[in-house]
Amino acid sequence: MTAILNKLGEVFNHWRISREDPFLLLVRTVLSQNTNDRNSFAAFSNLTSRFKTPEQLANATVNEIKELIKVGGLYQEKAKRLKEISRLVLEKYRGNLKPVLEKPIQEAREELLSMPGVGRKTADIMLAFWSGHDIIPVDTHVFRVSKRLGFAKNKDNYDEVKAKLELATPPGRRIEAHILLIQLGRNYCRSRNPLHNQCPINRLCPVGTRYVEPSRPSRRRAHPQ
Ligand code: SF4
Repeated sequence: MTAILNKLGEVFNHWRISREDPFLLLVRTVLSQNTNDRNSFAAFSNLTSRFKTPEQLANATVNEIKELIKVGGLYQEKAKRLKEISRLVLEKYRGNLKPVLEKPIQEAREELLSMPGVGRKTADIMLAFWSGHDIIPVDTHVFRVSKRLGFAKNKDNYDEVKAKLELATPPGRRIEAHILLIQLGRNYCRSRNPLHNQCPINRLCPVGTRYVEPSRPSRRRAHPQ
């Protein structure tokens, strides 16, 4: 994994990790589920132009939320979830998620998973990007790429892929691995028509090596007799 991360680090950006308000990070992550970045950013920015706090969102109607996040896909379901989450954060945590995210990782994960609409990926994103835990959240790109690279098997589930990737990744580089593998998946290791030939790590990938031209031995010059 080290060689892969080093190579990908030369090609892609390291995103800045912003420690935004944890509630807004949760809203952003819920909106990113099963949709592309462009649409989820648009939905987030529409929504937060009107409602930013758990209180404001809990008091908004589901229809108001739906209208604002329509561009983001699965908006009917997400609108209901966002309202339920906001109400829970307001009533159970007095509008503040920081104390949950500051708990020991397993405790915090279980508490996040008990919230409506919060699955393992969303919980792990909160724990990595807000709490700073050295873990690898597994999104759809990380899932696909890690299987093609041979770190995980096709039948592995979320927790198995995560555990295998974390074991293969040097401590301290796991959030970086999450970020770089996502960019690899978006730009080269796409679900359909992956660009094996142009992939920056094709020489390090069991699939990619089939597409790499073997280097030709250099021709010997004939010396005049
Ligand atoms: S060589 Fe192909 S399969 Fe391997 S990481 Fe690159 S795009 Fe994915």
